[in-house]
Amino acid sequence: MASRVLIIEDEPDIRKTIDYNLSKESFEVVQAASIQEGEKALASNKIDVVILDLMLPDGSGLTLCRDIKSEPKTKDIPVIILTAKTEEVDRVVGFELGADDYVTKPFSVRELILRVKAILKRGVSKEITTDNVQDSFGELTINYDEHQAYINNQEISLTALEFKLLKHLINRKGRVQTRDQLLEDVWGYSSNVTTRTVDTHIKRLREKLGIVGDHIQTIRGVGYRFSRKTD
Ligand code: CA
Repeated sequence: MASRVLIIEDEPDIRKTIDYNLSKESFEVVQAASIQEGEKALASNKIDVVILDLMLPDGSGLTLCRDIKSEPKTKDIPVIILTAKTEEVDRVVGFELGADDYVTKPFSVRELILRVKAILKRGVSKEITTDNVQDSFGELTINYDEHQAYINNQEISLTALEFKLLKHLINRKGRVQTRDQLLEDVWGYSSNVTTRTVDTHIKRLREKLGIVGDHIQTIRGVGYRFSRKTD
């Protein structure tokens, strides 16, 4: 069955180009030119992915992103935001509001389609439940009961904070976490402590993870993401 993509973009040329190229790849496409049209399309179609422009005639796409991600019916629909290259802050806010990925304008349609395919493949990552005792990603195994991580069954020595950081990233695997979010969720305080703290700890954690350190990806200008694969 074809996946259905909703494009919310007010510039007709961009919308049509994306539609044309996605349709060629056998996606079903629904177009919307405003937040209002987007909401209508979400309510009346089963949508698998949303491509969301941020500058829309009736408001900011960020508002819609937040609504999609807070509504139980739509919160599992992946959202890819389209942002201007210069608006790094939009990207950060977008992730904080739950966006799953972003593409910067001007973008290549090929790149966008790759993102759509990747996001459909991995789905929206669900939080792991507390009774999940162990997770494995290639050579890396995490045992939550023991608070231990292993590489090829060899225990690696992590501090409590490093373990918490790793666990937190894994819980949200596939999703980018901003430095501010990590500070707030892992360290338990916000704003006043410099986000450099996060960078320092990520660096150390990666070093300790050695050959599996590449699971933790840097998203430039935004934050970090745990990836199942290290390629
Ligand atoms: Ca626009």
